[in-house]
Formats: sequence, structure tokens, C-alpha cells
Amino acid sequence: MNAVQTRDMFLHVADVMVGSEEFLTEIDNKIGDGDHGIGMAIGFKGVRKELEGKEFRYVNEVFHSIGMTMLCVMGGASGVLFGTVFISGIVGYEDKEEFSLEDFGNVFVKSLEALKKRGKAKVGDKTMIDALEPATYALPESVKRGYNIKEGFAYAAEEAKRGMEFTKTCRARFGRAKYYGDKAIGLQDAGATSVWLIFNAMAEWVRDNL
Ligand code: ADP
Ligand code: MG
Repeated sequence: MNAVQTRDMFLHVADVMVGSEEFLTEIDNKIGDGDHGIGMAIGFKGVRKELEGKEFRYVNEVFHSIGMTMLCVMGGASGVLFGTVFISGIVGYEDKEEFSLEDFGNVFVKSLEALKKRGKAKVGDKTMIDALEPATYALPESVKRGYNIKEGFAYAAEEAKRGMEFTKTCRARFGRAKYYGDKAIGLQDAGATSVWLIFNAMAEWVRDNL
């Protein structure tokens, strides 16, 4: 995928995230402070403004632009967390005009590692990591299986969904949700839901446009 395609893919992601504000608010209202939908919508409205009509040469620049925008406009925990997802992976990564499935895998694996280091959460803590880790590892696994980008992103989206569903079975160890204790069982995590929405929108775009 070249930089323009990657930009267009994330413009679709941005539309989906902005359109999911109410859905995410409803989820975060149950076991958080209800601000996750608003935060993500603000972040992705910023991303849309930043990416629209802008020419990029390297795919890395698209990631950088998205991450910086989220860090700047979102604020709060999730601004830093989601900003990290888009920026950490490309720090030190060779500039490329096209990304293969393997490149996307390399970048997301690096981001995941940075996020886990920064946020200290691991799978089972009822955070976005529960969706991001399986979705991320689905990418190198897809390369191993010989999948193309469409198949690889579809598999990553499936894995993100599985991780999001898994958060229903967990108690939270981070954020405001931890004060809910056992009452959080049966409810899904808002950040993990966002990760699923992002990967699902990526898969939709490549399915319909590549
Ligand atoms: P805030 O916690 O500031 O209200 P949001 O409501 O936007 O921020 O985001 C909350 C989401 O952030 C949670 O649903 C969870 O997925 C994610 N999260 C919280 N703490 C961590 C952490 N330490 N590591 C990874 N993700 C986290
Ligand atoms: Mg919140």
C-alpha cells in the first residue's frame, strides 16, 4: 500500500470513529467516566482535518501525522495511549513509499511493545491491550500463512473483536473501571472497542478499495 492509499484508509477509519461517538460513550458510561467516545471523536475529527487533501510521500508520515494529531487534540489518558499506537511503531523505522503486510506488522508490533511499557497493562487487565495484542500479532501470523493485505487485515479485525469480547470476562486493573470490581464483569472495555472499530475499518477499506 502506498502513502495515498494508507491516508485514504485512515480517513475511512476516522469517519467510522467519529460516527461511533454515541456507541463508545454508552460503553464508557457503564464502567468509566463516559468520555471515551467524545475523546475519540475529537481525536479523529482532528485526524480527518489533518489528512484530508494532504500529500504524503512515505507511509511513515501518515502514521506520524495521525499520532501527533491525536496527542495534540485529545488530551487525557487515551490521547497519549492512541497517539503512542500510531507514533511509536514508526520511530526509527526506515521511510518507505509502500508498506507491505509485513511492514504494517513490524510497525504495530513495535507500537504494542511501547504501549505496554508505557501503560503497564497486559492482556487480561480489561484495557485496549486485550484487543490490540491479538490484532497486532495477527499481522506477522498472516505473513507466515501467506495471506495478502486484505486477508491479513480481515484476520487482525477478527482477532481484535475476539479480544474485545474477552474484556467482558475480566475485572479492570487500570483506569476508573477498576473501582467497579466484579460489577465490571459482563461489560466490555471502551478502549478495546475502539481498537476493534479501528482494525475493522482498516479491513473494510482494503476489502473495498484494493
Ligand atoms: P480516561 O481514562 O482518561 O477517561 P478514556 O475514557 O478515553 O480515558 O480511555 C479509557 C480507556 O483507556 C480504557 O477503556 C482502556 O482501554 C484504556 N486504558 C486505560 N489505562 C490503560 C493502560 N494503562 N494501558 C492501556 N490502556 C489503558
Ligand atoms: Mg474515560
